[in-house]
Amino acid sequence: MRQQRLLNPTLRDIPGDAEAASHRLMLRAGLIRQLSSGIYSYLPLGLKALHNIQQIVREEMDAAGAQEMLMPALHPSELWKASGRWDVYGPELMRLEDRNGREFALGATHEEVITTIVKDEIHSYKKLPVTLYQIQTKYRDERRPRFGLLRGREFLMKDAYSFDRTESGLDASYQSMYNAYVNIFTRCGLEFRAVEADSGAIGGTDTHEFMALADVGEDTIVHCTSCQYAANIEKAIGTVPEHRISMRVDTILSASQPVKVHTPQVTSIKQLSQFLQIDANQIIKSVALQADGMPVIVLLRGDYELNEVKLKQALGADEVSMLSEVDIEKLGSIAGFIGPIGLQNVRFIADTSIKGLKDAIVGANEPDFHLIQVEVERDLGAISFHDVRNVAQGDLCSNCGHELSFAKGIEVGHVFKLGTKYSRSLGASISDENGVFEPIIMGCYGIGVSRVLAAIIEQNYDERGIVWPESITPFSIHLLTIHVQDEVQMKLSEEIYTTLIRAGYSVLWDDRDDRPGVKFNDSDLLGFPLRITVGKKASERIVECKERRDGSQYERSVEHILTHCH
Ligand code: ATP
Ligand code: MG
Ligand code: MG
Ligand code: MG
Repeated sequence: MRQQRLLNPTLRDIPGDAEAASHRLMLRAGLIRQLSSGIYSYLPLGLKALHNIQQIVREEMDAAGAQEMLMPALHPSELWKASGRWDVYGPELMRLEDRNGREFALGATHEEVITTIVKDEIHSYKKLPVTLYQIQTKYRDERRPRFGLLRGREFLMKDAYSFDRTESGLDASYQSMYNAYVNIFTRCGLEFRAVEADSGAIGGTDTHEFMALADVGEDTIVHCTSCQYAANIEKAIGTVPEHRISMRVDTILSASQPVKVHTPQVTSIKQLSQFLQIDANQIIKSVALQADGMPVIVLLRGDYELNEVKLKQALGADEVSMLSEVDIEKLGSIAGFIGPIGLQNVRFIADTSIKGLKDAIVGANEPDFHLIQVEVERDLGAISFHDVRNVAQGDLCSNCGHELSFAKGIEVGHVFKLGTKYSRSLGASISDENGVFEPIIMGCYGIGVSRVLAAIIEQNYDERGIVWPESITPFSIHLLTIHVQDEVQMKLSEEIYTTLIRAGYSVLWDDRDDRPGVKFNDSDLLGFPLRITVGKKASERIVECKERRDGSQYERSVEHILTHCH
């Protein structure tokens, strides 16, 4: 490809609102452009890198025996109602109506659709096991889309679903996907950990998250440096006695949509604790705040200093003001605060180790009960990471007894044993040898393909720009001609270009009539592994090579390059 004609609008300045390195670099290097919050276009170079990831995903999925297919993004609401998720998924599910008033969702995930297909098409145990996958655009109306491709509202996911007759069959399918994920992330050049995760409300058994290590990551992982143990923080904390954890803030409950309250307004401390089904004595400290004009109630255990900067980060708010700081005896003032405004648009931040809180929230989330469509979000943010570190360091021990270390991670993949939740609710069953029908046992396996692209950049950049791994780079060689007016340089460049292309290399040729400084800067920013510069020694058929990763530079004769590139 000749750069003169390439749509590659590089930016010198760092876009102000882009916090994450990958987001800044993808904008600066002209890989993506934002259309709307959490919604991006891929420009040619960005798409090439994305294709390279998809290629790896396809190869490893196919090698694991999974079959590719493609399902629609538009889902009739009936399917989501049948599984029960139309009500419980909450505001993250994008909903719309057709011209006849029929309700649809934009697919956030495809358990309902795939289970329906399997239900209609597979009836005998002889057809199992089967694992099906797709690489497809997903829609989630994230409360806080941010960090560019890391948390989008429209994003590319590889989602796979396994169907087995027996639990041991599921174990095998799960293991094979797990192994494929290890291969995929290794080939993508990511430094990652597979961590035990909490199967939570979905009620599965085994589940692992694949975490790319990066400070920008929104997840906290806990791992042992001396044995294999690794888990996400929720899982790790879930396995230690509750009394050992205090001062933990890890749940932000937001009511970004107006919330209907079906109960009388809470006006007393007693009502509040009843409403939350919390033993009032367990709340040691509570604080009412206002963040960007929105009321926030913080319930904490332990003596906790609120750090305003961190709080702002955790809440994603520009302005946070303290309304009151009270202890349990005075919690009435919090209730008094809630009372007048009802429970509309209130965010809770709560220490989830407060007994019963999580269950109370889940209970309150049932259709027609207390809060409608209140999003329960696990979002650690900077504030809680700090606390978890202080508190849990030394509190948590791994299986081998060693102290655990903490790291921030980006969830790039997730494997999950679903069991029969969807096959039961949607009626997907198979007959055994005796003609007896049993629900199919399922697993689901996601990879955030577009998030992987951003995660790769988070782990591979320096102050000059992106440093692509060989397996993902949009082009492997950047050929740069210093003076395009110089006939000797152009002729030699052309010769190198065509020979390399013929030998199967992907080459971007910077044939732009621009200042060398501009071209070198762009080249470092774009970050392909090898740069070959044709300059003043062109008449001697000597070029300069520079390796992007370690910066090493050396001169080579053209003959040397062309004979070594076959
Ligand atoms: P998160 O905890 O980051 O919100 P999730 O647990 O909701 O992710 P899953 O439902 O497990 O996500 O989806 C499978 C994969 O899709 C995730 O492991 C992640 O890599 C990717 N993914 C999920 N949400 C997004 C998003 N908003 N933008 C980009 N990728 C995403
Ligand atoms: Mg999510
Ligand atoms: Mg997650
Ligand atoms: Mg997940």
